[in-house]
Amino acid sequence: MSDRRITKIVIVGGGTAGWMAAAALSRTMDNLSIRLVESDEIGTVGVGEATIPAIRLFNALIGIDENEFIRETGGTFKLGIQFHDWGRIGDVYMHAFGQIGRSLGMLQFAQYWLRGRNDGVAGPLGDYSLNEIAARQDRFARLPQIPNTSLDGIAYAFHFDAALYAAYLRKIAERAGVVRTEGKIASVRRNGESGHVEAVVLENGEEIGGELFIDCSGFRALLIEEALETGFEDWTHWVPCDRAIAVPSENSGPARPYTQAIAHKAGWQWRIPLQHRTGNGHVFCSDFISEDEATATLLDNIEGPMLAEPRTLRFLTGMRKRAWNGNVVALGLASGFLEPLESTSIHLIQNGIAKLLAHFPGRDFDAANIDAYNRRVRFDYERIRDFVILHYHANQRTDSPFWIRCREMGIPETLARKIGLFQSQGQIVREGDELFIEIGWFQVLTGQNIMPGSYHPMADLLTHGELAGFFADIETIVARTASHLPTHEDFIAQHCAAGVPA
Ligand SMILES: Cc1cc2nc3c(=O)[nH]c(=O)nc-3n(C[C@H](O)[C@H](O)[C@H](O)COP(=O)(O)OP(=O)(O)OC[C@H]3O[C@@H](n4cnc5c(N)ncnc54)[C@H](O)[C@@H]3O)c2cc1C
Repeated sequence: MSDRRITKIVIVGGGTAGWMAAAALSRTMDNLSIRLVESDEIGTVGVGEATIPAIRLFNALIGIDENEFIRETGGTFKLGIQFHDWGRIGDVYMHAFGQIGRSLGMLQFAQYWLRGRNDGVAGPLGDYSLNEIAARQDRFARLPQIPNTSLDGIAYAFHFDAALYAAYLRKIAERAGVVRTEGKIASVRRNGESGHVEAVVLENGEEIGGELFIDCSGFRALLIEEALETGFEDWTHWVPCDRAIAVPSENSGPARPYTQAIAHKAGWQWRIPLQHRTGNGHVFCSDFISEDEATATLLDNIEGPMLAEPRTLRFLTGMRKRAWNGNVVALGLASGFLEPLESTSIHLIQNGIAKLLAHFPGRDFDAANIDAYNRRVRFDYERIRDFVILHYHANQRTDSPFWIRCREMGIPETLARKIGLFQSQGQIVREGDELFIEIGWFQVLTGQNIMPGSYHPMADLLTHGELAGFFADIETIVARTASHLPTHEDFIAQHCAAGVPA
């Protein structure tokens, strides 16, 4: 067998994507020289502070101690996302992580809940979710299972400071041998025959050569687009927001263990609680509201004094036609962008890295391998895209042209099928290894007032009394368990307060 192994990797960019890639590759592979180039003058996008539970797998992959990670990034725990005013003004629901209730026989909890609502014996869905009850009471603990029951415990993710996260990963990567070069890339040298990238050339003339290039250069997409002209698939017609105003503010109380997503006239606002500040942003559609008005709306709705001037970020929703082209793999904003409503971008970076490891190439860059990677990454992007669109499309708001347009706009066939099946059968089919589980879709669908016409007939096998008892038992166990959890604030103070040495 000939030795076609890659030995030299160049990572372009030192934002979240660049340092995640550097940390993961250096901690999982041997005999690789990894160089990362970043420009202090250009800087990073500076947002991206809410995550989903799968990030814990990434932490495990690179061997992070979770308390240290939270301490060093000013982090907090996240139990889900609370949505305000999405279906109708005044509505509040939560997409809580983890399972809700428990399945019984062959049927998932959601089917019993649909019957229970119909029969008047089931309360709001969130009453059966430990995550949601804990979130409502600002409580948190690490509890994988509710003791002495078959009920899942707490499923969690994190909020963290994006700049501190990149710095933390940098320490890990540099310790594992990654060499960082500060400098601005001025040009890219490509092979005349294969078209592969051979080197990036810095403004000072230094050339950094490699075999595999990972483009983490942010929206600019220096290699995958500027050099290789891979092409971009624009999804703005389905996900209409194109700008965000971001501003940090002082905390006005204990940090909540969940993200808030508050719908406004032409977009929505995030509140991400950290230990040392709150991240706020207003994502909006510039066809319907001016930047000044969007800024004013945001500033009217932050809870503490602002800590910096608001700044505007412009973006285009969609994905690169191929995330991997030749010897360049794009990760992060260089590979595509889905707005942060379900906090999925960092996950897509992690996902790209995991799939790159699975499809790690040789120097021949086998086309079938690259195709397989691209197909899988596309599938992940498209399924998450559908989930995000659902939030916009399934609204009943009549107060603004933006929401009316979202309701009336066309949606991808894949999403239309999902909504159609749910409306008729109350059923959700999770395709392949798509990211969001059935109960996640269920919470958003019902939270935005899409109720199905029926439920599975097997749910009728319980008598009315048995069904009422089933719900009462779960509600009691969940409430009792939540009441014994420490507050989120106390948990952090005890285990992972920022600025407190280990
Ligand atoms: C408004 C908004 C909110 C978001 N919120 C979330 C969220 O809550 N959760 C989530 O998961 N994601 C979120 N994201 C996405 C998240 O911010 C990004 O996925 C993440 O930060 C990764 O960014 P990046 O590393 O790809 O790019 P960047 O942070 O932009 O980094 C690009 C890097 O490339 C370098 N670079 C560029 N050009 C050159 C050059 N010529 N020479 C040398 N270096 C260069 C830069 O210096 C920088 O180091 C959000 C994004 C936006 C826009």
